[in-house]
Amino acid sequence: MEAIGGESNPLRVAVVGSGPAGFYAAEELLKQSDLKVVVDLFDRLPTPYGLVRGGVAPDHQKIKSVIKLYERTAARQGFRFFGNVTFGADLSLTELFGHYHQVLLSTGAESDNRMGIPGEDLQGSLPATQFVGWYNGHPDYRHFEFDLRCRAVAVIGNGNVAMDVVRILAKPISELEKTDIADYALEALKQSTIEEIFMLGRRGPAQAAFTNPEIRELTALESADLVVRPEDLELDGPNEEFLANAKEPTHKRNMDILTAQIEKGDGSAARKVRAWFFTSPVEVLGNEKVEGLRIEKNQLVKDDQGNLRAGGTGEFSEIAVDMVFRSIGYKGTGFAGIPFDERGGIIPNDEGRVVDGEERHPVERLYVAGWIKRGPSGVIGTNKPDAIATVKSMIEDLPRLEGSAQETAGGEDISVLLREKSVDFVSFADWQRIDQAEIERGKALGRPRLKFTTVKEMLALLR
Ligand code: NAP
Repeated sequence: MEAIGGESNPLRVAVVGSGPAGFYAAEELLKQSDLKVVVDLFDRLPTPYGLVRGGVAPDHQKIKSVIKLYERTAARQGFRFFGNVTFGADLSLTELFGHYHQVLLSTGAESDNRMGIPGEDLQGSLPATQFVGWYNGHPDYRHFEFDLRCRAVAVIGNGNVAMDVVRILAKPISELEKTDIADYALEALKQSTIEEIFMLGRRGPAQAAFTNPEIRELTALESADLVVRPEDLELDGPNEEFLANAKEPTHKRNMDILTAQIEKGDGSAARKVRAWFFTSPVEVLGNEKVEGLRIEKNQLVKDDQGNLRAGGTGEFSEIAVDMVFRSIGYKGTGFAGIPFDERGGIIPNDEGRVVDGEERHPVERLYVAGWIKRGPSGVIGTNKPDAIATVKSMIEDLPRLEGSAQETAGGEDISVLLREKSVDFVSFADWQRIDQAEIERGKALGRPRLKFTTVKEMLALLR
């Protein structure tokens, strides 16, 4: 048999998860000039693009234009999409290994971190990821109900997801109704009576994880004032040192943006976004549902590695809030039979090669890319070099595959097995029909698209 990657024996790769990392990996594989490669990209939803569709905020449509690049990948020879196929349920790893030389998992980070404080599970205390999935019309979250007819909410965390959540809660409906936000979310937001949004960061404004454009957007909201506390922006010795040593200008600029808010005071809009720093939640208060939040004032303390951490001062207070959104990071989830690092929420790997046990033995033919490889950090584009690095490892490993994988992979087409198992898979052309139908539905309303938010609706359109 010809070597793997030759004209008559293309390298067959299954990529599981069609978010940015999956698409960048597919692109890198398919553009190899001296290797013939075919890529089947699987997703458990009938829709591709992962967090670009289900995570990126609806009022950030420009960011979504990255989809054009993924469409170009999908148009490449050798690419196929299999939507509505759940890895671990519809297809096992053993089955994939029986059909492909290599398997790459790019399944992202589907869970979230917990605060680990009393009252966290009271009604109205929720992970931001749930709210984000809900307003973005992700089928997993569309059944949640968010009653926003309340007075005050707290958003915990200072990352860009927290910024998205705050902005969506604070923005005027006139702006949101021009987006592809889920229609039921738009209705709930229309009824919102929220007056105060507390945005709580456990460390200082200089250490905040948000980036400049995101915090700047909050200063320019038509319908809400971003209110800061002058004392949070006073720089002491450790903060001066932190800013002086910061490699990126982001931190200093964040400080400047927030400092400029001081003179605006409380502003005049009916809705207030109160950015409080050096503040940790210690208990969610309430009987059955959220009624408030007990918070502790923090100070910065240096840990053993010289990093500035939040340390409690023992000074506590309470704020009245009706909902709490914890936005303190996504977390990866594992799959039965595949190594998983619970603490880090990632699949352990060396340069994308999945490894097992303390000895870190490579798991032959299994690779990872994106958040499940490195954890939930970086922007969409960060996944490109990440995926390219994994593909480099995959190609380096090819000489070792000649032999066992040669015989096992390369049998019948996966679609035969999927049909046998009655899996109602969706092709890229099918997805394009869903896409077009959503765009058509949106046109009538002056919106970029009106999403289908259940798998049932999507399949009904196709069949
Ligand atoms: P993130 O950037 O890692 O931010 C997590 C935040 O949670 C940090 O402020 C962190 O504070 C805080 N935190 C963690 N544990 C906490 C605890 N127990 N109590 C209180 N606060 C806690 O995560 P993310 O916001 O989920 O975003 C994930 C990635 O997606 C990021 O790289 C982000 O930039 C990216 N993203 C980008 C955009 C955009 O470009 N517009 C939009 C959304 C997301 P410490 O700093 O003190 O740890």
